[in-house]
Amino acid sequence: MPRPRPDLIILGGGLAGGLCALALAERRPDVEIVLVEPAAAIGGNHLWSFFASDVAPGHAWLVEPLIAHRWPGYDVAFPAHRRCIEEPYRTIESERLDAAVRRALPAENILLATAEDATATSVTLSDGRTIEANAVLDARGLGAPVPGMHCGWQKFLGQLLRIDAGHGIDRPMVMDATVDQTDGYRFVYCLPLSPTDLFVEDTYYSDSPELDATQLERRIASYAQAQGWAVSAVTRQESGVLPVLMGGDFDTFWPANDRVARGGVRAGLFHPLTSFSLPDAVRFATWLAKDAPLDERLGVAARDYAQQHWRRGRFDRLLARMLLRAADRPQRFRILERFYRLPEPLIARFYAGRSTFADRLRILAGRPPVSLARAFAAMMEKK
Ligand SMILES: Cc1cc2nc3c(=O)[nH]c(=O)nc-3n(C[C@H](O)[C@H](O)[C@H](O)COP(=O)(O)OP(=O)(O)OC[C@H]3O[C@@H](n4cnc5c(N)ncnc54)[C@H](O)[C@@H]3O)c2cc1C
Repeated sequence: MPRPRPDLIILGGGLAGGLCALALAERRPDVEIVLVEPAAAIGGNHLWSFFASDVAPGHAWLVEPLIAHRWPGYDVAFPAHRRCIEEPYRTIESERLDAAVRRALPAENILLATAEDATATSVTLSDGRTIEANAVLDARGLGAPVPGMHCGWQKFLGQLLRIDAGHGIDRPMVMDATVDQTDGYRFVYCLPLSPTDLFVEDTYYSDSPELDATQLERRIASYAQAQGWAVSAVTRQESGVLPVLMGGDFDTFWPANDRVARGGVRAGLFHPLTSFSLPDAVRFATWLAKDAPLDERLGVAARDYAQQHWRRGRFDRLLARMLLRAADRPQRFRILERFYRLPEPLIARFYAGRSTFADRLRILAGRPPVSLARAFAAMMEKK
């Protein structure tokens, strides 16, 4: 067992909890951390991708050792428009996160356990044990339902396909929206992990959270067939139903009297439209390791941090409402098709959550590719 009273207990060894543990171990090695994770593998079984510009150069030290795949750019395709974007693209494999965290923390500080309850300075595990600490960080993922969040859903299933004859793709296809637009904005995402291994994901934006895995498996099979790929094996599979945040109320999501610090998506630290959280998980982990008070004040400090993020997301929530409320399902792709005609630096700032005021005007400028009346109603909705 670790020291009777560690400095910090992190609940959840997912992406955010793992990055926080790594950042603290690197930058504040004097801090004793206990990580509580019920799954055998830290980070589960995931691929996390991001655009290189999502991570500030000053934060690269945290993610660089975790990157398993790199490409100099990526492609997008829409019915009336195809484009190569010269923005480097990166993928982290959860196996690397697991190995890095196990190198950084003593084995006895990683508890294979489930947290039942937490206060700002203590955690009760499902086996009845209570551990006291100077501070607790809850990074147990979002859970459902989520009070205070008005959501649509981004649903996907991805398979790593082995194609012995080679797939012929040398850079990621981040959105191939030339496919049938079933149930909302749909696209196929392809990551070439080797000349014969291709990760193919079928994704769609939807009003409901139900995921029909069999249907998505069939769609991937028919996409592969249409491309002429003979698949010899499926070597990995993952799926997700991620919230697309259209609006809500931060004080309901995280009441001011809730003093347990939160991190990761549990703190709302994700991009409202894409649901991707890696850029925010990196920023939060580096903040934690540099500026955060690791004592009972952590809850208030983390809540302030999350509230600022929520405020900055106002424009992205508006875009999420435009996508899911103002456009008819078969026409939703037009919003992204139009977005992808904009300059590359603007696109990069948007994904990194750093759109400027001028970017926002540019994104909204001109006649929207949706009903004007519904676009106006979406703009007027509670943010
Ligand atoms: C399949 C999939 C692919 C994704 N791909 C990307 C991507 O490419 N890029 C990107 O930026 N985002 C991606 N996302 C979105 C988002 O980044 C991930 O969901 C990310 O893992 C969220 O990080 P997190 O640490 O906040 O939560 P999680 O990674 O979900 O971690 C939560 C952890 O808490 C643990 N936990 C749960 N309950 C308890 C408990 N009671 N006690 C202790 N621990 C507990 C869980 O086991 C888990 O390990 C993806 C999401 C999914 C589902």
